[in-house]
Amino acid sequence: MTATEATVHTLAGVRINGEPVQPAQPWRTVVTEPATGQDLAQLIGGGKAEAMAALDAAASAERPWAETAVAARAEALRAIAADLRAEPGAEQLAVAISRETGKRIAESRAEVGLSAAFFEWFADAIRSRHGQSHSVVPGLRHEVIQRPLGIVAVLTPWNFPVSIPARKIAPALAAGCPLLFKPSEVAPESALRLAEIVEAHVPAGVLNTVVGDPAEVSGSWLDDPRVRGLTFTGSTRVGQLLAAQTAPNFTRNVLELGGNAPFVVLAEADLRRAAEVLAIAKFRNNGQSCIAAQQVWVPDHLVDSYANAFTEVTDELVLGDPLDPSTTLGPLALPSDPGRVAEVAQDAAASGATVVTGKVNVPANGYFAAPVLCLQPGADSRAVTEEIFGPMAVLRGYRDVDEVITATRTQRYGLGGYVVGDPLRATAVAQALDVGIVGVNNATPNTPLVPFGGLKHSGLGWEGGQAGLDVFLTQHTTAVGA
Ligand code: NAD
Repeated sequence: MTATEATVHTLAGVRINGEPVQPAQPWRTVVTEPATGQDLAQLIGGGKAEAMAALDAAASAERPWAETAVAARAEALRAIAADLRAEPGAEQLAVAISRETGKRIAESRAEVGLSAAFFEWFADAIRSRHGQSHSVVPGLRHEVIQRPLGIVAVLTPWNFPVSIPARKIAPALAAGCPLLFKPSEVAPESALRLAEIVEAHVPAGVLNTVVGDPAEVSGSWLDDPRVRGLTFTGSTRVGQLLAAQTAPNFTRNVLELGGNAPFVVLAEADLRRAAEVLAIAKFRNNGQSCIAAQQVWVPDHLVDSYANAFTEVTDELVLGDPLDPSTTLGPLALPSDPGRVAEVAQDAAASGATVVTGKVNVPANGYFAAPVLCLQPGADSRAVTEEIFGPMAVLRGYRDVDEVITATRTQRYGLGGYVVGDPLRATAVAQALDVGIVGVNNATPNTPLVPFGGLKHSGLGWEGGQAGLDVFLTQHTTAVGA
């Protein structure tokens, strides 16, 4: 089926105790398809009443789930992973991701596999998270165990609508926490399918999903002291609002927010290869990834040659339907996005940048934007200071790589980064960058086994690795006397 042969269908955005729920006062929105601009689905969401019903369901499930044996929880996670990987569902899920986000189908398939891998990794991780017993004080035995944090609100963005929820839901379930899930209203279908798959393997009330007015649903949850954790991925602006809202209850926060990743080309790097690595780091998810390369730093004397190497790569991009395997750059998510990126380019030009637009065919329908390279914009321009979230790279010259390290220390974001060059030298630079995760000679540094998280305005806490499990556990000490 091509993107244009779709029929508009209805999505039930409220699921409580493992069942779809008809909201008392439905909240409605239309989901559109970025590749065509046409309507894809009618989403029926809920409000405060459904948010509170979901919270009551999670509260009822809290003790039984916390007391479920670790081996049984791990088994549930493995079964969820197996369902995610099973065909034909896996391919249908990948198609749903592509149609509602505009992501290329190969990347959507990879996202489904990554989502399953999160469940598999955290099934293993919880099995090896043992308590400790200490006999260091005469007459006392100290026992330290890890208990589930409690009810956790999971709020997620549209750009990785399955793997970001998976990265949060898997460790929280493994830890023994019941969940309140609000996926993005921009790309709800694939997230709702994930919810159904999870529900099939956990007791009723352990995962409850409410899509609706974002502030109303999340506010209803975060104002309630029964909610002990918030794990949010999204923009820095919304992260700040939510962090403030959780302060009165001291709710534990994991906040995965915006980025503005440096991409450092060292003098010895092969320029064509560095351009190819940049193309992956830049154009993944059509430029809308939190770790998208943005500030591309090149030695002063190589700026022109590198710009040429990169434009050769970008001029080869094929814009089109994300379901067509020959497409190499899909559309942006929202109708307003191409204009937003164009404004950033205009601002860069006004600051003195040379703006080079890729020589590509831009489809007439849908939310497409041509790739853009901004050369040497002003330090205060939006292209330098803001997260672009689109197919634009910003090329900046440096004399000494210390300038780049200093620049990353002073910018407000600190999430992803990349260095291309001699592996030893590049690793030393990578470890000095003031960010959370860096790819050295590679554009895909993320995997479930390692921690992923941002500094400064890119957020708080980690996902993935052992650290991604521990945020959903509390430490509990008992001192046992004779
Ligand atoms: P967004 O902040 O607009 O939305 C994220 C979530 O917050 C959605 O569920 C949305 O419904 C909800 N929301 C929106 N306004 C709200 C409000 N006033 N109160 C409560 N909830 C609200 O982000 P987006 O456009 O969906 O995603 C893109 C952003 O996410 C980018 O900034 C990107 O860098 C960031 N992101 C970060 C990571 C990471 O791991 N650090 C990963 C992916 C995306």
